[in-house]
Amino acid sequence: SPMKNIRNFCIIAHIDHGKSTLADRLLEITQTVSGKDLQDQVLDNMDLERERGITIKSHAIQMNYSYKGEQFVLNLIDTPGHVDFSYEVSRSIAACEGALLIVDAAQGIQAQTISNLYMALEHDLEIIPIVNKCDLPSAMPDEVEDQIIDLLGCDRADIIRASGKTGLGVDEILSAIVERIPAPVGDPNGPLQCLIFDSVFNSFRGIIAYFKVVNGSISKGDRVKFMATECEYDADEVGVLKLGMSPRNTVNCGDVGYIISGIKTSKEVKVGDTITHINRPAPEAIAGFEEVKPMVFAGVYPIETEDFENLRASLEKLQLNDASLTFQPESSAALGFGFRCGFLGLLHMEIIQERLDREFGMNVITTVPNVSYKVYDKKGSCTEVHNPSGLPDPTLIDHIEEPYIRASVITNTAFIGPIMTLCLGKRGILIKQEYIHGDRVELIYDLPLGEIVIDFYDKLKSISKGYASFDYHISDFRPSKLVKLDILLNGETVDALSTLTHFDNAQSFGRRMCEKLKELIPRQQFDIAIQAAIGAKIIARETVKAVRKDVTAKCYGGDISRKRKLLEKQKEGKKRMKQIGSVEVPQKAFLAVLKLD
Ligand code: GDP
Ligand code: MG
Repeated sequence: SPMKNIRNFCIIAHIDHGKSTLADRLLEITQTVSGKDLQDQVLDNMDLERERGITIKSHAIQMNYSYKGEQFVLNLIDTPGHVDFSYEVSRSIAACEGALLIVDAAQGIQAQTISNLYMALEHDLEIIPIVNKCDLPSAMPDEVEDQIIDLLGCDRADIIRASGKTGLGVDEILSAIVERIPAPVGDPNGPLQCLIFDSVFNSFRGIIAYFKVVNGSISKGDRVKFMATECEYDADEVGVLKLGMSPRNTVNCGDVGYIISGIKTSKEVKVGDTITHINRPAPEAIAGFEEVKPMVFAGVYPIETEDFENLRASLEKLQLNDASLTFQPESSAALGFGFRCGFLGLLHMEIIQERLDREFGMNVITTVPNVSYKVYDKKGSCTEVHNPSGLPDPTLIDHIEEPYIRASVITNTAFIGPIMTLCLGKRGILIKQEYIHGDRVELIYDLPLGEIVIDFYDKLKSISKGYASFDYHISDFRPSKLVKLDILLNGETVDALSTLTHFDNAQSFGRRMCEKLKELIPRQQFDIAIQAAIGAKIIARETVKAVRKDVTAKCYGGDISRKRKLLEKQKEGKKRMKQIGSVEVPQKAFLAVLKLD
């Protein structure tokens, strides 16, 4: 179809504001999916995503829509809804000309709404504001409209009231997409430039890259080059994205499509890269490409040492469709041989852990997450350290830098006090406090990422009774007075429990670590001394008293099946234990630092 009849758009929404549900309605009305195979939330097609109700990976889908007797092609580019994937969001947004801004009529504007909206405005997207879930009894559409007007400076008449559940407003949204969002601009006869905004791994076809044709056009059989990786391929298949892939001879300027070209690993396809022709290359790549770097690291160790090679194979398979996962072998005196994995953020880490368990049946121990540190020696040279136990001897260190984030917290004025206390305890620096509308306020903080990866979300949620939303981006590295805190069990340092912490907090942190470990390490047949140390100096100590316990004693003989169950349960418990010296340590002890009060 001609460029003037194409509309490329995405949906911006805070998690749970109804993005997927509304997308379903659009697909239904445009008959992109038939009633029979209409599944709830077809866009979230990974099991894990469905269960979590969030979209982890972006996808795209094309709809045909007839408006006032004219045929339009609407490309909906789905964006991931979590801070960990904000670079991917930015590339998806860069492929669009417009965005639906969805705000839950009962919840109002949240942190994610604003950060993604800013990204869309930066790319000059036309914004269609929508107050969603208007069917809810608790809906406050007038108030939420006020918030949107304050934020966007739009007219009340521009805002569409909708419900993905009842279908209210969905027709109006479709006509607004055609009427308000501009058609793509680009030179159909210029040298080829396709912006890659996503890729997926398919075990039969290899890597499939999703792109928007910014200039020129791409045809089956073309020789192409990916400009950042400098790899060259034949376009074995190109096409557009319906519910599945729909091959075409050519994907034209302005349209969204996919390419299959025999690419084996996800590393070769980088989100944000530009595809061009070999024989008539574009003079330059599309702006905005970045290498995504993992920011959060953790050790992943098999419980059974002989599973090491299996674990490697599983991580390699995961990496095929998730290039942002990194791993390299490491060994720990406490845990044996394993891998230091790099993740985009905490959610990404959880996803990988869960997939290792579910898809590969890997029984692993994961250590406390930490960020990457820049360690400068006295001669001024810098090494990046991804593991606290890999820190050089303190006498060789000149100073250490850690990553900082710029964070936005949106909440009700009633919670400002407790949230400020929390952020202060996390070494936060208040940058700005701004009233949004009514009693809603946005707090902008600079915080060390290392403090966020440790139990920040949960605390924020509980002190604000759920009425605070949080979003962030990495800003820079800053020098900090960090020290390595070691934990010793019966005199032996457990390297997997070492953390880097700020000097001023080290004392109280060490004490709380010892207390928590005392709770988590079960009594054994001898006393266990738990100590926290900085260098050679012991700063805290607790003891787990010895006990001789027969677990079946309390079953009073009689009930055999109950007895057996108890023994089996104990065996289960054993499996998740790791022997460290003479002490058996449960998996949850390695995450003790996440559970400190
Ligand atoms: P997403 O995280 O933005 O993709 O949100 P979902 O589409 O997954 O919706 C989150 C939750 O809100 C689900 O339980 C939906 O059933 C519910 N929901 C979505 N849209 C509506 C709506 O218009 N009205 C009502 N009452 N509930 C909705
Ligand atoms: Mg969703």
